[in-house]
Amino acid sequence: MMNLTPTLQDCELLDQQDPLRSLRSQFDLPPGVIYLDGNSLGVLPKATPARVAQAVTQEWGTDLIKSWNSAGWFTLPQRVGDKIARVIGAQAGEVVAADSTSINLYKVLSAALHIAAADQPHKKTIVSERSNFPTDLYIAEALCKERGYTLKLVEAEDIATALQGDVAVLMLTHVNYRTGAMHDMQAVTAQAHAQGALTVWDLAHSAGAVPVDLHAAQADFAVGCGYKYLNGGPGAPAFVWVNPRHTERFWQPLAGWWGHATPFEFTPDYRPAPGITRYQCGTQPILSLTALDCGLDTLLAADRLGGMAALRQKSLALTGLFMQLVRTRLHGQGFGIATPALESQRGSQVSLTRAEGAYTIVQALIARGVIGDFRAGDGGQHPDILRFGFTPLYIGYADVWNAAEQLCQVMASGEWQDARFAQKHAVT
Ligand SMILES: *Cc1c(COP(=O)(O)O)cnc(C)c1O
Repeated sequence: MMNLTPTLQDCELLDQQDPLRSLRSQFDLPPGVIYLDGNSLGVLPKATPARVAQAVTQEWGTDLIKSWNSAGWFTLPQRVGDKIARVIGAQAGEVVAADSTSINLYKVLSAALHIAAADQPHKKTIVSERSNFPTDLYIAEALCKERGYTLKLVEAEDIATALQGDVAVLMLTHVNYRTGAMHDMQAVTAQAHAQGALTVWDLAHSAGAVPVDLHAAQADFAVGCGYKYLNGGPGAPAFVWVNPRHTERFWQPLAGWWGHATPFEFTPDYRPAPGITRYQCGTQPILSLTALDCGLDTLLAADRLGGMAALRQKSLALTGLFMQLVRTRLHGQGFGIATPALESQRGSQVSLTRAEGAYTIVQALIARGVIGDFRAGDGGQHPDILRFGFTPLYIGYADVWNAAEQLCQVMASGEWQDARFAQKHAVT
């Protein structure tokens, strides 16, 4: 991008030349909306309503219980998992789509602690990042209480130092949900392994957003979210991956019948299924899995256009453009940029900071059809955040320009100070 501030015409030209432009037509984007929250809830794919309706009326309504076999319901978690594997550098048969991110994190963290305890019983610490997503920290805190471990929270720059202690597991989210800062998974995993610690990676803001190669990184465990960049719909099932070197070393704590080797023999004792299937617990939500399957197809449609590498290139161009527009057009308006300028350290979102008004500015933007979100700070080192996600499947360059233009207008008009934008909703 040139140093001159790009114009709307420049951005429209970039859209015309965008080799991924056709992917946008897979989605039902509401008119008049610039949706910069695909990092929180991905957009509805056009194919999803009819496919889910078919699963309801035909598979459930007509075929009823036969559909566990005839419609392949029983193997859907594995089949969706195989599609997810393709965007996270895993092999077919190594991923299942199941349960929620929080629950899957409990499973893998528990398994990691069992393996660490067997190999190096003196290690009693889990290290994570203080600004990790809270549910990840809560799950770790609960497990630490249950098992007599200590959860040590550090800033990103202090992880290497923290690993020098007796660390059993390093649990990190690859792309930080607040700032969009991305860890070097391969380097951090190598650092952890050099200190004898196992790694648990949360890919909630990575899967479908940035290229991930779990095998190249030699990661140990990973979980991730279905309703963000995978476009699976509200509450979509999450996913879980375990490095094959660990999969069969421990059951997993929620040893339910769907993780049993032979669930339909109904034996009273548990025998874990081989491979990742043991990471299922009970009956999975087939309708939601069906919607997630459609969401993944929108992502895999990029394969013929260069796949995740091409999506990454566009995503970096979009986030780079937004940051450039903020720096030039909103100079002196009190905004900071929490997202790294360095491309290798950036996910697919841009987070702005502002000492006051972050919440009301987001609300004023939403009223204008520019949908981002707000994440509260802690009043100290971590400030309030205005978050903007740029999903390259359906966001274009002119969208970025128009979003920045709306932000300029919200600030210039002073409308963000309007009392009607100050009312806090339950979900921000
Ligand atoms: C979105 C997200 C979650 C969500 O967890 P749920 O169990 O789906 O509520 C967890 N961790 C991270 C890092 C996330 O970004």
